[in-house]
Amino acid sequence: MKAMVLNRLCNLKEERQPLALQDVPEPRPENDEIVVKVNACGVCHTELDEIEGRTPPPRLPVILGHQVVGRVVDIGSQSNRYTPNTRVGIAWIHSACGRCTYCHAGLENLCRGFRATGRDAPGGYAQYMTVSQNFAYEIPAVFSDAQAAPLLCAGAIGYRSLRLIGLQNGQRLGLTGFGASAHLVLKMVKHRFPDCETYVFARSAREREFARELGAVWAGDTGDQPPQKLHGIIDTTPAWKPVVEGLKTLTPGGRLVINAIRKEEYDKEDLLKLDYPQHLWMEKEIKSVANVARRDVTEFLELAARIPFIPEVEQFSLEDANIALLELKERKIRGAKVLMID
Ligand SMILES: [Zn+2]
Ligand SMILES: [Zn+2]
Repeated sequence: MKAMVLNRLCNLKEERQPLALQDVPEPRPENDEIVVKVNACGVCHTELDEIEGRTPPPRLPVILGHQVVGRVVDIGSQSNRYTPNTRVGIAWIHSACGRCTYCHAGLENLCRGFRATGRDAPGGYAQYMTVSQNFAYEIPAVFSDAQAAPLLCAGAIGYRSLRLIGLQNGQRLGLTGFGASAHLVLKMVKHRFPDCETYVFARSAREREFARELGAVWAGDTGDQPPQKLHGIIDTTPAWKPVVEGLKTLTPGGRLVINAIRKEEYDKEDLLKLDYPQHLWMEKEIKSVANVARRDVTEFLELAARIPFIPEVEQFSLEDANIALLELKERKIRGAKVLMID
């Protein structure tokens, strides 16, 4: 089968072709696994973190991609949940141990045995992939393959971030960074919390304009002061400045949730600007969001289908995965990038 393969880690400023188009053996299902013929796979910022070594795959070569939509084409001997041709999605959580206290508490995203799709197991930048039947989700008919793909990571983790913020209707929410996940959060807030106002901080004028189009009441640059203090902020940037600036704009008791698997190092000295009375005192909190649990994906897909809200997507061919990744790196973003695979 065709796959875009990561053979070695690299710096994307120097290497413009991080992935190579290769012919690799088709996977076969074992035990409770299913084989999925991939139709669409979303492109996520986490792939940049893998390629550049901030969250390196334990083994190379590896096939990236963890927002996968396709059809079941084969099942293992102990697999009975899906019949062939069912359309399913696969998310970042490929498996967890199922036995630890985190797994028993529904916090499988924190399990020590957590394995990620497209990092610890082969992902969806390929024609076929396998996953346990217990870690696949039926995709509601209202979404096309391309539209469903970004819901599986950007959407599901946005949903988890919003849950961790603990937002209540009528409060003010800030979003710092306005990529795939944040734009889905904005749409979600408008539906679930109709009296909440959303404030967006983004470096590029194009992103700010996009945020206003989607209903943000205010959009400014990182570091601009919004007209009112915010009860919660979700940070989806790879940088530190938005965290420090964000803390300053929180109300007393406000919470900032960092939705990023890794932060980059280039502006880490901004953390030295942290001034306790201004940024942290008055019971302000910082919390990170780690991975997703199956519950996040399932609940979010149901919610998204009910509204329904359709993500903005930009489509690429599998062979153009490198172009999509570099555009993401260079922040040429409008909605979510998706590879279409045939
Ligand atoms: Zn992702
Ligand atoms: Zn576990």
